[in-house]
Amino acid sequence: MIVALNHKSNFTKEELLSYLDAYKNLNTYNHEMILIPSVCYLSLIPSNLTYASQDVSSKDMGAYTGEVTAKAIRSLGAKYTLINHSERTTKMNENLDISKQKLEQAFSNDLIPIICIGDSLEEHKNGEYVDKIKKDMDYLLSDIDKSKDFIIAYEPIFAIGTGIVPTNEDIEKVTTMLKETYHKKILYGGSANEKNIDELKQVKDIDGFLLGGISLKLPSLQEFLNKL
Ligand code: PEP
Repeated sequence: MIVALNHKSNFTKEELLSYLDAYKNLNTYNHEMILIPSVCYLSLIPSNLTYASQDVSSKDMGAYTGEVTAKAIRSLGAKYTLINHSERTTKMNENLDISKQKLEQAFSNDLIPIICIGDSLEEHKNGEYVDKIKKDMDYLLSDIDKSKDFIIAYEPIFAIGTGIVPTNEDIEKVTTMLKETYHKKILYGGSANEKNIDELKQVKDIDGFLLGGISLKLPSLQEFLNKL
């Protein structure tokens, strides 16, 4: 399985270095681990590990002060990048148009996008979430060659960092639609942890997990991996 570790905006340089030191002793079995630290630490990740960026600029290289381009990130050895994470859309006011530009930047700079897609609690409750997710995905992928390599992470927005996890049946409505429609690897993300992994790993049509909170705590992550 794929296990992607989104550190979000956590860790000082020293904290990350001691995390990486302890990470060497993690038993990752045969899972494909993807480290996703703050972009400023990408060059600290040993080259034998697979790593990703949490975001890329929607702009190409040029006069865009403060932006970090997909090309620069690729040149640091990242293989993947998250695109459309809900913390960008709900907390940083980005929209699907911006995410689409970022997706195009990732593709044209040889970064494999991990496209995050999710529903709000309201959308989930009114039962229209599967259609809404398909609509958003189709918009992001319009004019894009579907044979390109990408991964999709289904992340219910209300599940991220909250401890609220939808039922497996609810998750499967989305993961099965995503698998049948796009034929790509599918991750689940949203409060997955060492306590609920026994249940979550039964979800059909998933190829792995995108982890936030638990990715920072290596003993819990080890327990998660032992059960996966
Ligand atoms: C995430 O940020 O992508 C995520 C899944 O976070 P958490 O595991 O903390 O819910």
